[in-house]
Amino acid sequence: MNSETNNLQNYSHKRYNILTGEWILVSPHRSKRPWEGQEELIIKEKLLIHDKNCYLCSGNKRANGEVNSNYEDVYIFTNDFAALQSDSPSFSVNEKLFKAKSEHGICKVICYSSNHSKSLAQMEVGAIENVIKAWKKEYINLSKTENINYVQIFENKGRIMGCSNPHPHGQIWSQSIIPNEVVKKDKKQLEYYQINKSGLLADYLTEELRKKERIVFENDAFVILVPFWAIWPFETMIIPKKEQSSIMELFGSDYINFAEAISVITKVYDKLFDCSFPYSSGIHQAPTNNEDSKHWLWHMSFYPPLLRSATVKKFMVGYEMFGSPQRDITAESVANQLRKLV
Ligand SMILES: [Zn+2]
Repeated sequence: MNSETNNLQNYSHKRYNILTGEWILVSPHRSKRPWEGQEELIIKEKLLIHDKNCYLCSGNKRANGEVNSNYEDVYIFTNDFAALQSDSPSFSVNEKLFKAKSEHGICKVICYSSNHSKSLAQMEVGAIENVIKAWKKEYINLSKTENINYVQIFENKGRIMGCSNPHPHGQIWSQSIIPNEVVKKDKKQLEYYQINKSGLLADYLTEELRKKERIVFENDAFVILVPFWAIWPFETMIIPKKEQSSIMELFGSDYINFAEAISVITKVYDKLFDCSFPYSSGIHQAPTNNEDSKHWLWHMSFYPPLLRSATVKKFMVGYEMFGSPQRDITAESVANQLRKLV
């Protein structure tokens, strides 16, 4: 272990997130402290293949009275209680100290499978490919829609993440403003591209593949790694090896390779604490506002809330609310743990 690596594994330090320009505090010396905080309940329920009480299962009626089709693979519908609407009135408040503006968008729900009991970790790679193709189709169609400048694909999995329905599903929110996290990543990637004439995340990936300290898995087209600046204890990223600004550029064997990466990381997570591993996952990619997006490399991130077992959750409280995010266990030691479970 060289002295730089040794220091990063043993002493408190801050790490820079090149994509957002923010710092995170790392305190590796604290990772052995005893836990006296809250423990979550694990509910290991046996799920049905089709649940007559599930509003996402095929053929069932939803809260607004609509009936789902008798779908088999992927099923997409507009969210019955959407956070954004496309037909609400336009208005703005523009006082010196009080600013507001109406916001429009379309929120959709995507069921990954008609099988109520299977999460992505249990789905066949081919079935995950169908999900990816549906994401791409939605991204393309929404990008052509007037006033839609960004498409956010994401999933909340598990009760601990606020998702009460175990039916495998995610969401696609699209809107006219570009959300905060995306604005930060757009700015940092553009700044780097203008100076270096190469992609920020692509150059980072090249360095990570050379260092091999935080890689969990790779295939021909994708790499799974724990980012140097990870906030969540078991946070990971799936990054394409090809220069692609959005999933619109996925082509040929990219689908199966991306599906394999999703399958690998979700299976690894389930193995880690022998539970159906909760997380929020999402894809950050180029906005659909018709501006040049050469500086973008799309990527998928997983933010799992668990800290050291299936029942101990990381809380973003106190210093994290008032200061900066903080973690104890280092990205390198997590990558080692996850790599062994592939
Ligand atoms: Zn269901």
